Amino acid sequence: MRMSSPLTVGSAAGKRGEKVSGFIDIPRGFDPETRIPVTVISGAAEGPVLALVAGIHGSEPSPILALQHVRDEIDPAQLRGTLILVHIANLPSFTLRTIYRGPWDQKNLNRVFPGRAEGTASDRIAHAITTQVIEQCDCLVDMHSGDGNESLRPYSYWNKLGVDDAVDERAKQMALAFGLDHIVVDRGRPRDRNASIFCSNTAHLRGKPAVTTEAGGVGIPTESAVALNVRGAIGVMQHLEMLPGRHEVVERPCWIEPSEVLTSPDTGTWRPAVGVDEHVEKGALFGRVTNYFGETIAEVPAPMDGLVLYVVVSPAIGKGEPLGMIGRVTRES
Ligand SMILES: [Zn+2]
Repeated sequence: MRMSSPLTVGSAAGKRGEKVSGFIDIPRGFDPETRIPVTVISGAAEGPVLALVAGIHGSEPSPILALQHVRDEIDPAQLRGTLILVHIANLPSFTLRTIYRGPWDQKNLNRVFPGRAEGTASDRIAHAITTQVIEQCDCLVDMHSGDGNESLRPYSYWNKLGVDDAVDERAKQMALAFGLDHIVVDRGRPRDRNASIFCSNTAHLRGKPAVTTEAGGVGIPTESAVALNVRGAIGVMQHLEMLPGRHEVVERPCWIEPSEVLTSPDTGTWRPAVGVDEHVEKGALFGRVTNYFGETIAEVPAPMDGLVLYVVVSPAIGKGEPLGMIGRVTRES
């Protein structure tokens, strides 16, 4: 087999059998310039191209630290194929410590894919990831955690899009190989390549199986959350036969379907009444919103029976913002 030449991502020009790090430069637009730190690890042998993306949301540090460990641990001589590590996709959000949205344009990076070269910072970052990472990879894992204000129990999203069953099936196997035993079945993502909205959906719609993972929360990279992310990344690489060794596949996954994100009916202060990983009954109090004087202005009931996958645990809340997510556990997908 003829060896293809190593990939280049931004200033990281891959070299066969080596790790190379660099930056994708995002030129100045309406708002300042930024850049994306990336590593290209080119294995000694031919194989698939896997992209691991961290830091789409800057206050989700567990995956970010995990990819630093992955960079350190992978021996290119042992690697088959190519690993692209996007260490911190959203450097403005990371540096300025924002949740959900970028600091300059107030856009959620994971709602603007595939992005635009002429847009604001979030649009330009998404465009760079689409054109330089997604278009060059064969499959992708977009690694998230609870954001800085969210307590979360680990889970993955399986994008069961229904456009290409083979791609859906490969994504399912990747989710099982990542190793989180709760997997949300998501059938509602957009099917328009030009309005794919989410990072992983952008890859999936281009025929590249992709999963979104959630492990960690409240802005704290605990040892266990970082380890879950590292183990997940290694498991997917072993599943794709990029690394030797056997990965543990989730034997009895808890598929989550349906699931629902609760949003705040008002602006004020948020007082959650449930904890993460707790089972709630339909109609039970999920939490309440008070005004700035502490008087209750809205009670939020659970819209369905289910497991609390994440819940906002800090008080600042705006009308329409997420409060948490509930999902029903089933044994079938
Ligand atoms: Zn996120």
